Amino acid sequence: MTTVHIVGAGMAGLAAAVALIKAGRKVVLHEAAGHAGGRCRSFHDGRLDRSIDNGNHLMLGANRALFDYLDDIGAPGGLVGQERAALPFVDIRSGERWTLRPNGGRLPWWIMSASRRVPKSRARDYLAALRLAWASPEATVVDCLGDAPGRLYERLWKPLTDAVLNTDPHEAAARLLWPVVYATFGQGEAACRAYVARDGLSPNLVDPALAFIARNGGQVRFGRRLRALERGGGLVRSLVFTDDEVPLSAGDAAIIAVPSWNMGTLLPELALPEGTRAIVNGHYRLDRRVTLPEGSRLLGMIGGTAQWLFARDDVVSVTVSAADRLVQQANEALAETLWADVARALDLGAAPLPPWRIVNEKRATFAQTPAALARRPGPRVGLSNVFLAGDWTDTGLPATIEGAVLSGRRAARSALESH
Ligand SMILES: Cc1cc2nc3c(=O)[nH]c(=O)nc-3n(C[C@H](O)[C@H](O)[C@H](O)COP(=O)(O)OP(=O)(O)OC[C@H]3O[C@@H](n4cnc5c(N)ncnc54)[C@H](O)[C@@H]3O)c2cc1C
Repeated sequence: MTTVHIVGAGMAGLAAAVALIKAGRKVVLHEAAGHAGGRCRSFHDGRLDRSIDNGNHLMLGANRALFDYLDDIGAPGGLVGQERAALPFVDIRSGERWTLRPNGGRLPWWIMSASRRVPKSRARDYLAALRLAWASPEATVVDCLGDAPGRLYERLWKPLTDAVLNTDPHEAAARLLWPVVYATFGQGEAACRAYVARDGLSPNLVDPALAFIARNGGQVRFGRRLRALERGGGLVRSLVFTDDEVPLSAGDAAIIAVPSWNMGTLLPELALPEGTRAIVNGHYRLDRRVTLPEGSRLLGMIGGTAQWLFARDDVVSVTVSAADRLVQQANEALAETLWADVARALDLGAAPLPPWRIVNEKRATFAQTPAALARRPGPRVGLSNVFLAGDWTDTGLPATIEGAVLSGRRAARSALESH
């Protein structure tokens, strides 16, 4: 039987492997690191003595490809979500709190209700979001929505853009925000429900996929870095790894599912999105279990440094996206700054700094600017037996788990159609 070799065992590579196995194909995954999951993983932190995720990952009811993937690997209960969509916020400076409550049904009438929308905003402020639908490829989020202080910009559009595109709204591509705004606010309340991994990213999203692959005869090989693609006659003849070479026989194919910043040496002729943006996460172990307002899985934070707060048992984690300036700071200072925001958000008073861990992901995603958007390739790159996957490829979605899964499934489909 012919084999599909998949390089990179992040969410894109795993999703490709699962789709190919379901179609009856033999797969071998090659991963440079000693573990799977890539930018979506958990690890045991000795200082906190807890398993933590590299970063808080928020998923949405609208993420159909992800839910299908979880069904396929036999782990549908891996995500826990809200029973009703509700997004609580706190303004760290004033202590003001409010909750966004999208309604059921496709017509977003919640924007007409003062108790369901951002305080002091007007229904017509939200209609500005429709400008994203017709945004030119060059437009930024601020070009479409403005950045006037005191209205929705600070309390909704900026936090949403930072979270979804990991890029400041002044440079983030408007076209990439629209699919998420539409999916979350234009497809009814269930699409807006926030989901998080029940126990952690690895146990819920990654390990069940590895078990599925092993159960179905697939192989996963760790510590294997792809160095080059040896080409000839419009196809790739062999995959050159650090220690060995894997020839591709007739009918074999390869899916390359590595981040854009690792692609340059593999396909130097490919125009790639340039630039990356960082995400900082601060994790704190408290002396008790924490629950958030409205039984929510997360809390939006305005006016401080931390942007989103997540809680799992006694660990509270905060996220700062588009955080390139922040990663220059010493971790100790960052831990203090973020803790001050946490203490205010949770009304903890002058609580001393608990055990903490800062995780800086300097290359969390590519910079999702209009220029980068124009440089996202599809799965086909002019080689008949090689296909691309990854959150940075042209999925029409931002660089997210949903985008990564979609890209993996799409690359698998292309490989199946060609072979
Ligand atoms: C801190 C943080 C927070 C995030 N928050 C969210 C969120 O809230 N919601 C959301 O949906 N998304 C979020 N994301 C984005 C999400 O994690 C990514 O979009 C997704 O995991 C990307 O998956 P991928 O498979 O495309 O790439 P990766 O996860 O980067 O996987 C690529 C794999 O390829 C391997 N590799 C690289 N080069 C080679 C080589 N030459 N040979 C072999 N293997 C190689 C890497 O080791 C890696 O395992 C976040 C990301 C970070 C870092």
